[in-house]
Amino acid sequence: MNEKEKLEKFFTQFPGIGPRQAKRFVSFLLFKDIIYVKNLTDTMLNLKQNIKRCPKCNTFFSIKNNYNVCNICMDPRRDKKKILILEKNADLEIFEKASIWKGTYFLIGKNLKINDENPEKSISLSPLMNRLKTDNVEEIIFGLSINPEGDITKDFIKNYLEEQNLLKNIKINELARGLSLGSEIDHSDPITLKSAFYNRK
Ligand SMILES: [Zn+2]
Repeated sequence: MNEKEKLEKFFTQFPGIGPRQAKRFVSFLLFKDIIYVKNLTDTMLNLKQNIKRCPKCNTFFSIKNNYNVCNICMDPRRDKKKILILEKNADLEIFEKASIWKGTYFLIGKNLKINDENPEKSISLSPLMNRLKTDNVEEIIFGLSINPEGDITKDFIKNYLEEQNLLKNIKINELARGLSLGSEIDHSDPITLKSAFYNRK
């Protein structure tokens, strides 16, 4: 495999990127000067070195703040007894922008695939389980995508936590289906999101 093909292979591993787009990225880089490419690789390295996952909610946060948890988990004004379960950071950012949620979050990273044979391994629930054991959680709201994968993931998490006996006295809610079918949180506008949030069942 030559250098071009090697890089193309990396790009095809990016979400949503096929072989044709990967080729275009590589040829884009070939036309750029070395300083551009150096800046790009430095930025990628800095990203990995300076951003880590919050052990409480799985959010990515900058370790420059010298704390071990993210700003939201650290904030005394946020209600630790309420947890909104979302798929990814982009979803969380939308909720933060809309300023409608005063509780905390838990990010699962990605929804399960249909027919996932090892769901326990695909989603790491241990930080959430630890919080259910220690934080006197009162309410969990599911804000996963409204599609079959989101539904399967929600059911799996619910059943799994129930089997571990961790859902006693905890209200389980989910966002209302104001979001259109098949919609993803990070494509929804703040008004739709607000209505789904306030109409949660
Ligand atoms: Zn956090």
